[in-house]
Amino acid sequence: MRYAMAVDTKKCVGCSDCVVACQAENKVPIGFCRDWVVEIVTGKFPEVKVELRSERCNHCKNSPCVRCCPTGASHYSDGGIVMVNGDDCIGCGACIQSCPYDARYSHPEGFVDKCTFCQHRVTRGYKPACVSVCPTNCLYFGDLDNPKSDVSVALQKRKYKVLAPEAGTKPQVYFLI
Ligand code: SF4
Ligand code: SF4
Ligand code: SF4
Repeated sequence: MRYAMAVDTKKCVGCSDCVVACQAENKVPIGFCRDWVVEIVTGKFPEVKVELRSERCNHCKNSPCVRCCPTGASHYSDGGIVMVNGDDCIGCGACIQSCPYDARYSHPEGFVDKCTFCQHRVTRGYKPACVSVCPTNCLYFGDLDNPKSDVSVALQKRKYKVLAPEAGTKPQVYFLI
């Protein structure tokens, strides 16, 4: 089992429904977020290209945040999901500093928080909240070890990239290009 997500940069319209759904589902405090939308503009007028993409923790296979955590609060869970055990987190912020994607934030209650791939939903057979609300169906989630999962099918059909591959973190969020 290897959970992963694919984000279709050609279909995302930047509506931020994924961000709002995540905040509601995961009770993310006001002013913080577990996912966000990035707009990258390249080229010169009139040949301008815009890429919109929904970003979150990449659930890296080789994650510096897990390696540097002094208490083991940051850990790999089933299917490679990178989780934070809030009870063991001392809020030192080492993981926040180590993440090349700025995917974590300090929760006002004293622990570090980030995307969980909605583990509480996917282990019960539901899609992650962000995936389930996206109006253009541009988010695909599932098990990479299952060739018929939504994410595997999406990656078989299209070219894709990961963010900052040079960091060596082996991200498990893929961007369809
Ligand atoms: Fe893009 Fe879908 Fe998020 Fe809207 S809900 S910003 S279309 S990923
Ligand atoms: Fe850790 Fe950042 Fe990778 Fe998420 S994106 S697993 S927080 S290094
Ligand atoms: Fe938020 Fe869940 Fe989507 Fe992660 S998978 S960004 S926790 S809604």
